[in-house]
Amino acid sequence: MEHKLYIYNTLSRKKEQFIPLHDDRVGMYVCGPTVYSDVHLGNCRTFISFDLIYRYLLYLGYKVRYVRNITDAGHLEGDRDEGDDKFAKKAKLEQLEPMEIVQKYSIGFHEILSIFNTLPPSIEPTATGHISEQIEMVKAILESGYAYEIDGTVYFDVEKYNKDLPYGILTNRKLEDLLEGTRELGGQNEKKGRLDFALWIKAKSETLMQWPSPWGWGFPGWHIECSAMSTKYLGTTFDIHGGGMDLQATHHTNEIAQSQACNHTAPAKYWMHTNMLTVNGVRMSKTAGNGFLPKELFTGAHPLLERGYSPMTVRFFMAQSHYRSTLDFSNEALQASEKGFERLMDGYSRLQKLQASAVSSVDTTSLRSKCEEAMNDDFNTPIVIAHLFEALKAINLVHDGKETISAEDLEELKTVFSVFIEDVLGLKSEDETSGGNEAYKGAIDLLLNMRLEAKQNKDWATSDKIRNELTALGFEIKDTKDGFEWKI
Ligand code: AMP
Ligand code: ZN
Repeated sequence: MEHKLYIYNTLSRKKEQFIPLHDDRVGMYVCGPTVYSDVHLGNCRTFISFDLIYRYLLYLGYKVRYVRNITDAGHLEGDRDEGDDKFAKKAKLEQLEPMEIVQKYSIGFHEILSIFNTLPPSIEPTATGHISEQIEMVKAILESGYAYEIDGTVYFDVEKYNKDLPYGILTNRKLEDLLEGTRELGGQNEKKGRLDFALWIKAKSETLMQWPSPWGWGFPGWHIECSAMSTKYLGTTFDIHGGGMDLQATHHTNEIAQSQACNHTAPAKYWMHTNMLTVNGVRMSKTAGNGFLPKELFTGAHPLLERGYSPMTVRFFMAQSHYRSTLDFSNEALQASEKGFERLMDGYSRLQKLQASAVSSVDTTSLRSKCEEAMNDDFNTPIVIAHLFEALKAINLVHDGKETISAEDLEELKTVFSVFIEDVLGLKSEDETSGGNEAYKGAIDLLLNMRLEAKQNKDWATSDKIRNELTALGFEIKDTKDGFEWKI
């Protein structure tokens, strides 16, 4: 199957025509979340971007096997081979089992992505469910000579690998430059080379999650899970590997080296990277403390938010920028997207009610090909939205009786709107989504204002009743100087 789809490939740093390895089938692997805390809106941007990509590949008729993993072991703080295990640390803090942490945040992750109307992947493998595959891969890398073991920990030998294949291929960096940017090894460090990374890490006696291996009890390094699971489900070479841009330099660079060392072939043909969501120019992240949660965004309960925004407004806001551009969050931008989304959906419902005439005086016949052309140009969703807005003008003119449209053209226009708005952009009418719409927020505000009035009238029974019943429904209500705040 051949379409004129072009994808920007990080490996070649240019747009390349997309030609799948196996005719009409596409294998796509996307690095999923590390489920030790709530996902923030930045993480959501990456997953929503890949959802748009997945949806368009399906639109083109490909049979897509979309694999997105869940990292539930092996991810140490600082993304390197040192520091505490993220899950163990959180488990101690919350006094839970590490797998309770994993369960809690996996459920939260799925809930949020479903509120954003993203399609589930075809396979969602976990690192803990694939320990033996990871051990087998480490064994193969040791056999190929690109790894070494020191006292129960196995390291990948980057300098040795770089003698045969360029280690920094993904980011186009030479080993010498990479070495320059890395800290000297401390005296007690057992690694041979500064860039060497752990494939398998020896457990301490107090390590909560550990497994037996040929090198003793331990746990896998973070990068090996993706190499092992992508190989298992998509083969040694597959079509697309994706993730956020922050994963290029270390995680994906190491994945390529591991897969090459084990399978003697490049893992993916096209590497795709989404750009970051920023807040006032600073990348949103857990550590920067600017990572508000989707739920805070829906209710407006965060100091950075002037008010809440609905899930579809946020999805539309994301689709309005290209996945390779940075996207800066601001209240103004969200408010503009809210208006834009409303205008698009109003036009879409107006379209359903248009009357056909014998002939068309407006030309809407090229809309489908214009939208396809935009998506074929590296998934350019903002251009698709611009074309849909252009078509809204024609819809309004026909609606106002100033222009006409034939039955045939009207049918096609309806199909194109429904396919691109619902199937490709994954937008749906706000009334179907919960949690964020204005009417819902208005109703809660109304109840809490009634409670305020009751309090002023010293009608404690009513005021307590409203508070208790909302609390029982899961609302958190806070009295403030000026009135109240609430969130769910
Ligand atoms: P993590 O759970 O930290 O492993 O991240 C999950 C995914 O979210 C990765 O693909 C990251 O690249 C991506 N990500 C993290 N922060 C941001 C951000 N601010 N904007 C977009 N994507 C992000
Ligand atoms: Zn990964």
